[in-house]
Amino acid sequence: MIVMKFGGTSVEDATAIRRLISIVRTQLHRRPIVTVSAMGKTTNGLLECARLAAAGEIETANRKLESLAAHHFNAADQLALPIEKESLRDTLVKRFDEIRATLREINAARQVTPRLSDAVSANGELLSSLIVAAAFRGAGIPGVWVDVRPLLRTNNDFTRAAVQFDEANPRLKAGFIEALDGTNVPVTQGFIGSTADGATTTIGRGGSDHSAAIIGAAIDADEIQIWTDVDGILTTDPRIVAEAAKVKTISFAEASELAYFGARVLHPSTLLPAMAREIPVCVRNSRRPRVEGTAIVRNAPPSRALVKAIAFKRGITIINVASDRMLMAHGFLARLFAVFDRHETPVDMVATSEVSVSMTLDDTRNLDKVIADLQSFGEVAVERDQALICLVGEKLKYTPGLASRIFSSIEDVNVSMISHGASAINVSFIVASSDVERAVKLLHREFFSELDAETFEITAAAQAAA
Ligand code: ADP
Ligand code: ASP
Ligand code: MG
Repeated sequence: MIVMKFGGTSVEDATAIRRLISIVRTQLHRRPIVTVSAMGKTTNGLLECARLAAAGEIETANRKLESLAAHHFNAADQLALPIEKESLRDTLVKRFDEIRATLREINAARQVTPRLSDAVSANGELLSSLIVAAAFRGAGIPGVWVDVRPLLRTNNDFTRAAVQFDEANPRLKAGFIEALDGTNVPVTQGFIGSTADGATTTIGRGGSDHSAAIIGAAIDADEIQIWTDVDGILTTDPRIVAEAAKVKTISFAEASELAYFGARVLHPSTLLPAMAREIPVCVRNSRRPRVEGTAIVRNAPPSRALVKAIAFKRGITIINVASDRMLMAHGFLARLFAVFDRHETPVDMVATSEVSVSMTLDDTRNLDKVIADLQSFGEVAVERDQALICLVGEKLKYTPGLASRIFSSIEDVNVSMISHGASAINVSFIVASSDVERAVKLLHREFFSELDAETFEITAAAQAAA
């Protein structure tokens, strides 16, 4: 059994869905479970509808929803069997009626609670999976739609719900083994789940990758394939550096650092369930299925490359707390970090001196409360609009002099915090958001001008850009 996950661009319209089917067709003997994201930008569109409804602009919200609906009906009409067209249309109409009802509720309440946000945004995956399952049948393959919600049990932390593995694993296993009956191809949703009392939840933006890994681990899949719109994991985001090259093989540890520090190609939590069961993961391009993609494995083969890839994350906030009470005191940091714990705010990077401590945050939803509580520890300063840059590679641990090479290549960029050694395979630091593109380009030139052919491969996109 394998899990094949297709992201938003890989299901964006009828043409993309036909490509998906031809990819799955070549692997039917491996008993695939197909997990899909919402079509194209549907999730953003649905959330925008919710926002508009809360702002009292229900007509605009409904108009926007109409155009999303038209796009879905169009794809459905092109892909479903003639005898199924009407019933598929009815099913989709009912979904859109439900969304409209939720938008009215949001409009009346004049706010989008996290629960209502999920009730709206989860529809992207429900809709796309219904269409893809019908498209399989249209292509002569027995696609069966599986509602993942009763299987993938989460807590009720809406919009970023945590999976309750003890409950979810046996349900997922039983549900998908049953759905795989005979030659069936189960088609299910990424991104969504439900609570014990049946409320729909979502597990965080970009979470379909994570869903695929959760399902893969639950059924003990032989492989998890992440099909997306780039050739694999690249040396950096190709939107910033067009000549970014494909990394052929990468270790779980390297890939998780990259994902955690911003490489959007993989959701940060994706690899955990796969790592625990040592299930290989690969990242591949649905537009170029002949290209091999990146293999993510427990131990990557030794490589001559110092750096495998560069990730970055914008929208970082630095908090600095200065206090001479820190001097020689014990328990100070423990009490300080308890503040972040209390307000459920993760800290990414930390640097301390004798009298001050700096921390970086990505999630600033509770920033005001955090700051208010930190004030009792000392003077608090906040710097917004920062970015984190992270270089990853197993070789970083054995390479003296590397830091000087990194920082001299971005000499004129102001660097405010550095972390090296916390994880032996990454060096990360903070720059102003306005400097991040320039710094990433410079670093890419420094480390990837000459490519080790055993580790990297030049992509067609990079060739076209050159
Ligand atoms: P999907 O909808 O398939 O999940 P995403 O848009 O979430 O696709 O992720 C793919 C995108 O991630 C790519 O188009 C690329 O712009 C971006 N990306 C950022 N960093 C990297 C990287 N190191 N390697 C590949 N892609 C990256
Ligand atoms: N559709 C969801 C999102 O846009 C999940 C995903 O695509 O991974 O965030
Ligand atoms: Mg994604």
